[in-house]
Amino acid sequence: MEKSKLQQEISFHLRLQILIVIFITIASYIHLPFGSLKGNFIYGFHFLLLHFSLFGFIYIISLLKKVFNILLPILFIIASSFAFWVYTQDLTIGVGMIQAILETNLDIAMDVFNFPFILFLILATFTIVYFFKYHKNHQKSSVKSPILIFAIIGIITFFVVENYKFDAFKNRLPYSIYFNTIKYFDKPNITLKKVTQNVLTKENNLQIIVVIGESVRADHLSLNGYYRNTNPLLSQQENIVSFHKTYTPFTFTAQSIPQILTNQSIDNVEKNIEFTSLYSVLNKASFKTEWIGNQTLEKSYKDIIYENSSRTIVDKFHSFLSFKKEKDLVMLNYFKDDNNEYVNNITTFHMIGSHWFYNSRIDSSFMKFKPIITSKYLGSSRKEDIVNSYDNTILYLDFFLNELIEKLKKSSKKTILIYISDHGETLGEDDMWLHAQEHKASKNPAMLVWYSNNFEKSYPLKIKQLKSKKQDSITTDFLFHSVLDIGEIKNFDYLKGQSIFN
Ligand SMILES: [Zn+2]
Repeated sequence: MEKSKLQQEISFHLRLQILIVIFITIASYIHLPFGSLKGNFIYGFHFLLLHFSLFGFIYIISLLKKVFNILLPILFIIASSFAFWVYTQDLTIGVGMIQAILETNLDIAMDVFNFPFILFLILATFTIVYFFKYHKNHQKSSVKSPILIFAIIGIITFFVVENYKFDAFKNRLPYSIYFNTIKYFDKPNITLKKVTQNVLTKENNLQIIVVIGESVRADHLSLNGYYRNTNPLLSQQENIVSFHKTYTPFTFTAQSIPQILTNQSIDNVEKNIEFTSLYSVLNKASFKTEWIGNQTLEKSYKDIIYENSSRTIVDKFHSFLSFKKEKDLVMLNYFKDDNNEYVNNITTFHMIGSHWFYNSRIDSSFMKFKPIITSKYLGSSRKEDIVNSYDNTILYLDFFLNELIEKLKKSSKKTILIYISDHGETLGEDDMWLHAQEHKASKNPAMLVWYSNNFEKSYPLKIKQLKSKKQDSITTDFLFHSVLDIGEIKNFDYLKGQSIFN
């Protein structure tokens, strides 16, 4: 008799896990390029561990039978509705999506309710309700059950895996829904200081373009002497000054961007200090401030971006985790030249750039360096192939910046473009890969400046200074002070000595 109870219990949880696989979790794996047997094996193992951990949490809730019978079907339906979008469009369950749902963006809500989605939802609801009805008398979780020990091991597995590789599970369904909702409600960790004084500039017709790159290391630009021609277009452009000795101690986006866009110095990592953002100063000086980004905003810099008077986030429901994310070039469609000569403006582009998974960042016509990687699992790729794929993203960057420059050349404005990558990337040095690694390869981001002929005519001295500093070692502190220096900002203290134009 006891054995059959146990069997019933096992059978209930096993079947429930199978339903979760079909309706929810498989969506997080289906788009992954496995590439090889090893890749298949690793992700298969990952998948099993995720389910084992999920079983652990579910079993614990199932000890409270009444709560479980109501809560689980609800959670199942919610998770299935997210999974549908991950299945069909590889959307990312991130803070951006949670925000859109919680702040009920009406046009998105209308988009969501299409026929296949409703059909899927009805199917999921019907399945889970029927499942619970069918198993009404079979589900007998108990603290005395020997299964409890497995459930506890399952929960421990979650923490062990997350500890081994950060976000290994948290970015996958259904965990991603929970953790990104938490993230959405988290407070930002930067305090921005308001600019209250009357900041001034006598300049006009000035156009400042800041392009924030992603994971681009300076030494992979042929402009900086890289052996491969990764800059076939930019090398044909005049008026480009590339800095190859730029340093940042920060190796991931969430940390580096707030520093680049505020007066926070790289040496200043103390908490509870207020910083002033570039945009708040320029707003006060009557600049038009505009943000065009191809990355979903992270908590650490969201408030800075919100200071721009106009903000466009391209393709905000696909994050870097998605394989269907828009390419950076799309951002240029949103950029309109302002011909008003009495207006100064700053436009910041935020690229997805060379973020892993490299192949997803570019069109196939840029896959020039071959062979490229075929698996998302790094361990199954050859080092050369990873570097080839990475270098192809640099070719795309070359193309993107060149397109932008061609567009800017048509403007009558005095235009300056500053490109700065948020950090570098490790490509196998000391067996380290990607970024967020404490390695010097992550700390030397690419940086270059392009200026229009009008700009040079108006500020010959600034260009002379810029060229003379080409070989200097600088830090990412330069950006804030350089932009205010270009803008000839008065009545706000900045460090002119940090400007690359001074
Ligand atoms: Zn980054």
